[in-house]
Amino acid sequence: MKKIFIILFLLISYAGFAQIPDLERIEPMFWFTKMHNPKLQLLVHGKDIANHQVKINYPGVTLTKVNKVENPNYLFLDLLVSKSAKAGKFTIDFTAKGKKSLTYSYQLKEKSSSPNRIQGVTQKDFIYLLMPDRFSNGDKSNDVVKDLKESSVNRDSMYYRHGGDIQGVINHLDYLKGLGVTTVWMTPEIENDMPLASYHGYAVTDHYKIDPRFGTNELYKKYVEECHVKGLKVIKDIVHNHIGSNHWFYNDLPMKNWLNQWPVYTQTSYRDQPVMDPHASEADKKKMLDGWFVPTMPDLNQRNPYVENYLTQNHIWWIEYAGIDGLRLDTYPYNDEDFMADWEQKLKAEFPHLSIFGETLVSTVASQAFFTGGNTVNRGFDTHLPGITDAVLKDAIYEGLNGKTGWTDGINRIYATMAQDFLYKDPNQNCIFLDNHDMSRFYSMVNEDFDRYKMGMTMLLTMRGIPQMYYGTEILMKNYSNPDGLVRSDFLGGWVTDSVNKFVEKGRTVKENEAFTFVKTLANYRQKNEALQNGKLMQYIPENDLYVYFRYMANNPKGTVMVVINNTDKDKSLDTKRFAERTKGIIKAKDIFSGKEMGISELQIPKKSAMVLELN
Ligand code: CA
Repeated sequence: MKKIFIILFLLISYAGFAQIPDLERIEPMFWFTKMHNPKLQLLVHGKDIANHQVKINYPGVTLTKVNKVENPNYLFLDLLVSKSAKAGKFTIDFTAKGKKSLTYSYQLKEKSSSPNRIQGVTQKDFIYLLMPDRFSNGDKSNDVVKDLKESSVNRDSMYYRHGGDIQGVINHLDYLKGLGVTTVWMTPEIENDMPLASYHGYAVTDHYKIDPRFGTNELYKKYVEECHVKGLKVIKDIVHNHIGSNHWFYNDLPMKNWLNQWPVYTQTSYRDQPVMDPHASEADKKKMLDGWFVPTMPDLNQRNPYVENYLTQNHIWWIEYAGIDGLRLDTYPYNDEDFMADWEQKLKAEFPHLSIFGETLVSTVASQAFFTGGNTVNRGFDTHLPGITDAVLKDAIYEGLNGKTGWTDGINRIYATMAQDFLYKDPNQNCIFLDNHDMSRFYSMVNEDFDRYKMGMTMLLTMRGIPQMYYGTEILMKNYSNPDGLVRSDFLGGWVTDSVNKFVEKGRTVKENEAFTFVKTLANYRQKNEALQNGKLMQYIPENDLYVYFRYMANNPKGTVMVVINNTDKDKSLDTKRFAERTKGIIKAKDIFSGKEMGISELQIPKKSAMVLELN
């Protein structure tokens, strides 16, 4: 997420908080058998729980250490769960002189053995990003949850909750499937019990609980299962960097350095450069990394080993619990690099097929590559991060569509950007996109020019990387991100009271249907073409203002995809001799939009259009 200038609430004093129960919670509240890492650290929270003796008696489970910390309301229990430990329940007993003993029934659940459960998200996929509060209201009964701080719904205001939920997404999985989407990414679903703007989900207040206004943990699990049954995959959006200031542990911190604390409130600079700049000052770096995101989003201290364990286990817990295929890591550059590299390796050790990409809203290819794995930019350190959100390619496509041609401007910007892929270990793992919830919508950014829209969508769905589309872009939803709420409006038809239903053909305008069909055609084609799913990219220096690239399989020229972008006001002809290296003597191709066969020795490219040909 980018910086959010919502109304800034000053930190409230939490004096007079309700009495903490003797044993309030243990997290993770259950765990799994046969995990790769036998170590498990339980956070125990309860009034003066540190004064208690702890006993566990279960075959295969050993309590190796009881850690007391600054706050006596916490214990951190180090457990070893051997591979021989069987699924089942056991008690954790807490005893103290003169006090009633406390008991927690802990459960080890069977780790799933289903091989296709966590599949990973690759170039074969097409990701649909949506905000659950704004997509569809599938359950009116959860719109207002009385005990939560924002307990009303107001669809007339972009700042308030609108009532959308996970059931609403489940109800529209066939719509997504029909569009050619293969993967769903929702902005965070976990509890955000914040007094204002709680709908966006990036201010977690309980790491182990789906926000009741979106549903329950069980419903989330069911959503992932339903996606898998329909052949769709699921990405979970997670935040390592910060929490919401109403997080339950913010009100009773285990220790002072659980958070990055400052003598006076200090906000991050939102500048990624100090993290990679060889000339940077430590002060600038510290402010970037340890400054708070906004006053209502305190910064977690990821150098604290208890925090490290807490976050890592939480993410492993969600993946194993629900069977998630991929993770999108919010605000990646703001996190501690050692922690993130360690986290990444631990996650991959548990789930080898899991896909991961980090949000890096930065401005150069070098900055993006700095954060990806493989030490390709010689930073002397491997982040182990497979991919990033490719904002630089997005900017290049905008320049290609809106700019005037120059040596490195206009369409040449796209060419020049792709040429820098040498900086990545594997650029195919980058998530590529034209818009998302933190920026102006694509259709507005091309001035509602439908020709440019089609050229942009063509590049999105044929370029290297994993394409992601923002909800509503398929029906030409528009607006500028000032403020953010304007690009987070409701998908009409997602509420039974809506006067139109954009989920169905007859609810859409002619133009919207044209856009929908365009995306659907490309997305479905992508699912059938191996070169787009697994192939390499070859691009040619733009000549005569035409940008030409190929996606191809090295061993088979048949099925090679040729893309020609003509973003000029003139129809152009293109002699294809120059591309012999890729056409390999093939003289015929099929236009994937019209289905027409044609000779390719000379192509006629209408003004402001993209041509996609399959060589055969
Ligand atoms: Ca609802």
